[in-house]
Amino acid sequence: MRLFFALWPAPRTAGALHDWAMRASRESGGRVTHAETIHLTLAFLGEVAAERLPAAIEAARRVKGATHTLPIEQARYWKHNRIVWAGPNETPAPLAALAAELKACLLKAGFELEARAFAAHVTLIRNAREPRAALPELPRVDWPVGEFVLVRSVLSREGSSYEPIERCALSAGGRPRAR
Ligand code: ATP
Ligand code: MG
Repeated sequence: MRLFFALWPAPRTAGALHDWAMRASRESGGRVTHAETIHLTLAFLGEVAAERLPAAIEAARRVKGATHTLPIEQARYWKHNRIVWAGPNETPAPLAALAAELKACLLKAGFELEARAFAAHVTLIRNAREPRAALPELPRVDWPVGEFVLVRSVLSREGSSYEPIERCALSAGGRPRAR
C-alpha cells in the first residue's frame, strides 16, 4: 500500500484554500486540489507491504510533537513539478521538529525515506502553467495543528484518493500524552 503522513486541515480551512485555488487557477490553469484532499505531507513512505503497517503506526505513536498553528502566508508556483502551493514563510519550529522526529522514528523502524529536506507546502494546483499574472491574495486561514495522520493513497485514473488510517494526537508543549 502507498502510505504517507500528513497534516489535514479542518473543512473550513480546506474550503477557503480551495476557493482561493479556484481563483488562482484562472492565471495558471491546471487541476485544483479538491477541498477534501488538501493536506501538507510530513513524510512519504511510498509502497509499503501491508504487514509493515503496524510498524509504521508504532513508529508514529513514539513521536512527541507539540500542538501549534500553521500560518499560510505565501503562495508560489514551482516550475520543476508544475504545482501552485501555499504555505508558511518559514516552517514553524514545532512543525520542523515534528517532521524531523517522525522521520527519525520511521528510519529507526526500518522505513526508507528520501534524503530531501522537509519543505512545508500545501499543493493546491497540479499541472499548472507559470501564472500569467500575480496570484490572488491569500485568505486569512486558521490552521490549528493538533494531530497528524497516516494516510493511504489509492491511485486511480481520476487521481489519488486518500484514506486516513491512523490519527496521532500532538500535545501542548510536546510532552507525551497519558493514555
Ligand atoms: P497524484 O499523484 O495523483 O497527483 P498525489 O501526489 O497527491 O496525487 P501521491 O503520489 O500518492 O498522491 O502522494 C501523496 C502525498 O505524498 C502527496 O502530498 C505528494 O506530494 C507526496 N509525495 C508523493 N511522492 C513523493 C516523494 N517521492 N517524496 C515526497 N513526497 C511525495
Ligand atoms: Mg503523486
